[in-house]
Amino acid sequence: MTSPSASAPTRPGLALRAAARARSAGTKPPGKKRPRRLSVGFGQSMVSDAPVTDYDTGPKELTIVKYPHPALRRPNALVENFDEKVRQLADNLFTAMYKEDDPPGIGLAAPQVGVNVRMMVYNPLRTVEAENREGNKVFVNPQIVARSEDKEEDYEACLSFPKIDGQVSRPIWVEIEAVDVDGNPIRERFEGDEARVFQHEFDHLDGVVYVDHLEADERKRVQPKLDKFIMEYEARGGKEPAL
Ligand SMILES: [Zn+2]
Repeated sequence: MTSPSASAPTRPGLALRAAARARSAGTKPPGKKRPRRLSVGFGQSMVSDAPVTDYDTGPKELTIVKYPHPALRRPNALVENFDEKVRQLADNLFTAMYKEDDPPGIGLAAPQVGVNVRMMVYNPLRTVEAENREGNKVFVNPQIVARSEDKEEDYEACLSFPKIDGQVSRPIWVEIEAVDVDGNPIRERFEGDEARVFQHEFDHLDGVVYVDHLEADERKRVQPKLDKFIMEYEARGGKEPAL
């Protein structure tokens, strides 16, 4: 198995994650890292397992929940009222996504901020250097209506699993239906990186995370890091780990 940081990715969406990885590897040599303590330090907030409230009533800095927070596994409700709150939630999702810049967040689903509704956002144009907000896309109540039989394997990373990645096999193209924040229908076909990003975010709406798709050897490689996330979650007061 090739080490993710040793291989040079060829496509932009994945290149940005690798570039960020290389950058952080350069500034923090793994050999010189001090062991992290699991105690709660200053500036670290405690984990709340309770659903977030007032996430859509005004501009708000939503916190991205980390594995194994239960919000990542809860059912997600269809959006039924297309009012100003839907638009506000989309804006707040982008705010949370753009706040993440090491590596840059390129996609985020509502359950990742503790809001269990079927909304996801992404920007496949975002790079380490530029936000390119014209690439912003919002999908409400999305569905995958067709997908290729052929699959392709590539590395994925997720804002709810900081600083790790893993190889996931997915259909090369998907046809999707959704609505926008105003309830207008969207029908599109995506392939390549955008198909992968769409499928990754869409999975979140069904309580699925990318590590669920890892082959046994890849899962074994990341399991120690997942175990560390679980310990950190519990050390910060989390009571309902959803593995
Ligand atoms: Zn994710």
